[in-house]
Amino acid sequence: MGIPVVEENRKTVYSVLVVDDDPEVGQFMLGCVQHLGHDVDWSSHPYDALELIARKKYDLVVTDLKMPDMDGLTLLKRIKNLNDDTEVIVITGYGSVENALDCINAGAVDYLIKPFSVEQIQVALIKTIRHIELKKLAKEREHYLEMSYEDALTGVYNRRFFDESLKLEIIKSSRRQTPFCLLMIDVDHFKTFNDTFGHQMGDEALSKLGAVFRSTCRGYDIVTRYGGEEFAIIFPETAKEMASTLCDRLMNEIENLAKDLPKISETEGLAVSIGVACFPHDADGARQLIERADIALYEAKRTGRRKYKIYGMF
Ligand code: GH3
Ligand code: MG
Ligand code: MG
Repeated sequence: MGIPVVEENRKTVYSVLVVDDDPEVGQFMLGCVQHLGHDVDWSSHPYDALELIARKKYDLVVTDLKMPDMDGLTLLKRIKNLNDDTEVIVITGYGSVENALDCINAGAVDYLIKPFSVEQIQVALIKTIRHIELKKLAKEREHYLEMSYEDALTGVYNRRFFDESLKLEIIKSSRRQTPFCLLMIDVDHFKTFNDTFGHQMGDEALSKLGAVFRSTCRGYDIVTRYGGEEFAIIFPETAKEMASTLCDRLMNEIENLAKDLPKISETEGLAVSIGVACFPHDADGARQLIERADIALYEAKRTGRRKYKIYGMF
């Protein structure tokens, strides 16, 4: 078999295990992987391979399908059981391509049919390493999103930030003896808006609403997406007497925004309902404050939507 030919510039070194009972194939594979600059071990027996895998976390295992004592499919399942993140390429003869497909269904990332060229094995390795890297990136992104405080669609703070901020605001407000207001805002008939104009237009409307809330509020007001088509805004150091002024201003701005959005009926543009509750006036803690703002929001919905209600004032 020939000299490795595929060149690749790569900084990260991955750990690869080659499992093949044929020493000639094993040596050949070792050469191919080493040439790509990765760490590689070779095992000629599936049980030895499993022992190695249990001890060391391999990024990739390349295994023959036909070996004494254990077939490649069983080995693949055991590897995946040990660590689902380990990718597996299976090697098969022409006669057993169906087995290779079983392996793909069981989680193998790729298969190679014997005899294969140096280029074929190296391309398969490079493709798989890229796949590993993409998975790693996706995981990091997921982790970042989980840890972040931003709602990706609207750019306002997310629910996690809301929960933490509300607790903090209760503490600050109690210590400083200053009141604050909580607004729960729900888009009216948003299901109809989506059904009529499509989910993408719905997303756009939510994103624009987020921008309007941010530009209408002060820098230290906490604008958040509570979930779905619901927003929650915390107005620190704001007395209950100010609530109607805040709501009027928001309603006004949303009415302006609605002029640039499609209407769900001849007369009705996109609108919201708002429920307000204030601390410490209406509640003694975060949970009760949300409940009371929700009661006010429900009242706004019940009495015709497109309006705001302040807890205790209806
Ligand atoms: P109501 O006036 O009573 O609030 O009626 P509604 O239709 O707004 O309320 P409902 O709870 O029935 O529907 C909410 C809709 O909001 C349904 C859901 O698909 C949509 N929605 C929630 N999150 C998103 C999102 O991120 N993007 C889009 N486009 N739609 C969303
Ligand atoms: Mg809702
Ligand atoms: Mg709604």
